[in-house]
Amino acid sequence: MSEAEVVRNVITRLVANADETQTRIAHELFRQAGYLWRCGNPACPAYNYKGLRYCEGCGWGSKGKPVGDLHPSMYTERRWTRLRRALLKHYAPAAPMPDAVVFDYWGGPGWRGAEVTEMYGGRTEEITDGFRDRDRFEDIATALDSLTKWSKPSYGEHIRVVLAP
Ligand SMILES: [Zn+2]
Repeated sequence: MSEAEVVRNVITRLVANADETQTRIAHELFRQAGYLWRCGNPACPAYNYKGLRYCEGCGWGSKGKPVGDLHPSMYTERRWTRLRRALLKHYAPAAPMPDAVVFDYWGGPGWRGAEVTEMYGGRTEEITDGFRDRDRFEDIATALDSLTKWSKPSYGEHIRVVLAP
């Protein structure tokens, strides 16, 4: 078991039978020790495990709302624009549009195999199987494959595409 897993287990067991005040104190102690971080969203009380990039409760980071695109490689503007355009087209008929879509790469067929999470203001939603299926998500899959062709993602790499203006 990794240290992170041990810490998760300890915290889970500590707060399992604790009341609200005790839970807050336990979380705060673990935060001070560097095992948890406090969500930067003033409306969100969540503490998150070290290593998580975004709050599990609301999708914000420790320093506040995630803003701006993030991409790990020297992807050209053209490839990047193609991905954003495909995502906007995909979400256009459905309301509401997520504020951002994030991709986490843990293996699989390039960026198309990445884990995908939609971030709505105040909540996050994981998309089961992401955009792997080329038939269902033709434009997005093509855009992701184009990024992969340019530069293969490595384990743990992360993309964030902000859709909301
Ligand atoms: Zn939060």
